[in-house]
Parts: sequence; C-alpha cells; structure tokens
Amino acid sequence: MKFQIAIDGPAASGKTAVGRGVGKALKWNFLDTGIMYRAATRSVLDSGISFEEDSSIIETVKITSIELEDFSGSEKILINGIDKTSTLKTPEIDRTVSIISKIPEVRKELVTQQRNIASQGPIVMVGRDIGSVVLPDAELKLYLDASVEARAQRRYEEQVDFEDKLSLNEVKVDLERRDLLDTQRQDSPLRKNDFYTIIDTTTMSLEDVINEITSIYKSQF
Ligand code: C5P
Repeated sequence: MKFQIAIDGPAASGKTAVGRGVGKALKWNFLDTGIMYRAATRSVLDSGISFEEDSSIIETVKITSIELEDFSGSEKILINGIDKTSTLKTPEIDRTVSIISKIPEVRKELVTQQRNIASQGPIVMVGRDIGSVVLPDAELKLYLDASVEARAQRRYEEQVDFEDKLSLNEVKVDLERRDLLDTQRQDSPLRKNDFYTIIDTTTMSLEDVINEITSIYKSQF
C-alpha cells in the first residue's frame, strides 16, 4: 500500500480545502501542487522575464527554491527564502499560471519535487495530473467537479481585497480561460480519465465532500 490519495479537477472545484480536510481526517500529509505552479509563476513575474522566453522561464524555475513550510497544515510558501504566501492567489497569477505550467520542463522540475514530498509518508495530493502522472499508483483517484457558475461564485467570494478585485462575470471568464488552457495543453492535460471516481460538488458542502472521500477510502482499504 502506498497510502496515497490523488485529487484532480478544474480550477476552484474545492480541491484544496477538500484535500486539506481529508489529510487532516486521515492524519496524512497534504500537498496542493497548484501552489507550486503559482510560486514558479511568481518567481518568473518577479524576475521580469518575458512570457515568450521559454528557456529563461525554465532556467528561473530550476533555480527557484520553493519551500512549503508546513505542507500538512496551514499554507506558508517561501520563495528563495522569502514568505510570498499572500502574493500567490492574485488575479495576476490566475491569469498567467497556465502559461508557465504548460511548459514540459517546468512540469518535470515540479513533478520531481512533488514525488520527493510524497516519498516522505502517506499523502493526499491535489492538482491536475496527480492521478495520471505524479502518483499513478495512488490507491484512490478522485476527480472533483462542479458547475462553472458554482466555481465562479466560490472564487468570487474568496477574493480578498486585492486592488484588481474582479466582478463575478470576470471571475467566471478567467476560470473558463484557465480550464481551457489546462485541458488543451500537450503535456499532462487535465482529463476526466476512466480511473477517476468523479464527485460533483456543485451542491455539496465542504464537510460532505470530505466525509464522502474518507468513507470511500475507509470502505475500500
Ligand atoms: O489548483 P490551482 O488552481 O491553484 O492551480 C493553478 C494552476 O497551476 C492551474 O491552473 C494549472 O495551470 C497549474 N497546475 C498544473 N498541474 C497541477 C496543479 C496545478 O498544471 N498538478
């Protein structure tokens, strides 16, 4: 037994809150891989590199140190030793992250780090390619889905006071654009493969989803 649960799904489908809750319930580690792609994007934005220059982007990502201070509990992300947690869920990162994450060498670099973290113990890992690429031997592979309206509403409510706070419709348009990039890219696209157990969270509470996943796991293993 690997003691691994993989959770994939589109933007704002609730993966992170659900994955963290399941990790807590099972007393396992938790890793939100999306935050690593966001950290890589922050590093590229901060270095002022053009998004056209794949080779400079790859070089920057390779030399960027991304530290997740406590990947089982609260989120604290250090980029090259500096706490950048509050800068990773901004509309600017939402708009640009899928451009960085479609570059195969960037993925290779981050997937290696994700597997290293997984080798440290039982883990719930969430992302887009966890069941398909990162942890293909995970015992349980889940795909969390929800209508785009429900996802946009959740993300809209989550927005803190960024200067460039978006309207509900703008949030929805951005989510759809990001989903399109994440599902159409060549390397490790988000795809509803047959091996997933699909959970539609549109009308479910966070607690319901966590309970459902932990009971599926406990009933099967
Ligand atoms: O999960 P989250 O929405 O924070 O992910 C941000 C972005 O990171 C996604 O839109 C996607 O482009 C990228 N990502 C990825 N593979 C993962 C996790 C996230 O490509 N495993």
